[in-house]
Amino acid sequence: MSTTYRTSYWMPLVIVVLLLIIVVLMALLVRAQLIARHEHLSQTGAHQESADQSALSAPAAHSSNQPLAPERLHAPQVAAAYHWKLVTSWPKNFPGLGQAPENFSALVDAMSAGRLKITVYGANQLVPPMGVFGAVSSGSAEMGHSSAYYWRGKIPAAVFFTSVPFGMNAQEMNGWLHYGGGLALWRELYAPFNLIPFAGGNTGVQMGGWFNRPIQSVDDIKGLKMRIPGIGGDVFSRAGGTSVNIPGGDLYQALQSGLIDATEWVGPYNDLAFGFHQIAKYYYYPGWQEPGPTLEFTVNKAAYESLPLDLQKIIEVAARAVNQDMLDEYTARNNTALQELQTKYQVNVLPYPPEVLAAFAKASRDVYQDISATDADFARVYQHYNAFLQEAQKYHELTEKAYFISR
Ligand code: CA
Repeated sequence: MSTTYRTSYWMPLVIVVLLLIIVVLMALLVRAQLIARHEHLSQTGAHQESADQSALSAPAAHSSNQPLAPERLHAPQVAAAYHWKLVTSWPKNFPGLGQAPENFSALVDAMSAGRLKITVYGANQLVPPMGVFGAVSSGSAEMGHSSAYYWRGKIPAAVFFTSVPFGMNAQEMNGWLHYGGGLALWRELYAPFNLIPFAGGNTGVQMGGWFNRPIQSVDDIKGLKMRIPGIGGDVFSRAGGTSVNIPGGDLYQALQSGLIDATEWVGPYNDLAFGFHQIAKYYYYPGWQEPGPTLEFTVNKAAYESLPLDLQKIIEVAARAVNQDMLDEYTARNNTALQELQTKYQVNVLPYPPEVLAAFAKASRDVYQDISATDADFARVYQHYNAFLQEAQKYHELTEKAYFISR
């Protein structure tokens, strides 16, 4: 009895002591977890602060004339994991066109914290201007910056991804490519060449070009020798002129020497820098031949697929940013350059006669039909492009056009 009594007396005490020990151990465990969490938050807070400082430095860059100058973002640099080459069809740092790949490279560098370094090569530094497609296709360069319509010899339908006569303007091109199915078609056409294309800038509607004599009727086009590339050249020839394609670097001398009577190039910003006003007196508008040319970034497919997903996304986002940025730059700089051409150099800025524009428009439709009959991809892309253009035009009649006329 006495043993039973002692056991029943001590047992509750033992249980209470055990419970106390468990409670103390749990309290210690919770305390340790709280300390660990506090230390983690302290570290994250420090990172957040430095990120905030980077964000604060961004508006300073944005207030300058180069809103996409990311070298000023001071992104933390880590060892580069990838070194890429980007070849272009433009002279190194050529205003506008040549600046876009430089901006792209700097943006990718900043956004990837230096993990993806892209060196930009001007025309002829690694490959000639028309060698960009082949170099990126073969993988000897991972990226290129050029114009799709230069490759019409390989892919006739490529012209639609730059610009075609009486086609879409920049706003419509961006809508078609990014929300109308255009980019998917473009990628489909480039896939057999191991290339992934991205829109890479837009100059907006170009100017008609520089002429050494006035154009008053369709007869004045007859026999006229003009540098005008792409389908615009086909149309010009169909309307009675003689189209030639001369590389940009030789244009000034060709026009000065009388080898050609006229040339189109881009618009006031680039044309003023070229000095065409010194050798041709008549500057015609609008640029029916290139109403909204999109530039292109191409990426070698295997190189792109070798990147981790975040770097792939950085390429996509940087290209999209540069695509819009170039249009913004041209919109601002063309205005001031045009004023300078008119007031300082007394250039005759003239509209094409409606009769001449109508002849070019008719010749364009004939050319589209002819090429469609010989190339199935051209016919397919032209139909897709034209369907989007017709719809966009209906809406723009009521909005952009009606508004332009009203103000
Ligand atoms: Ca042009």
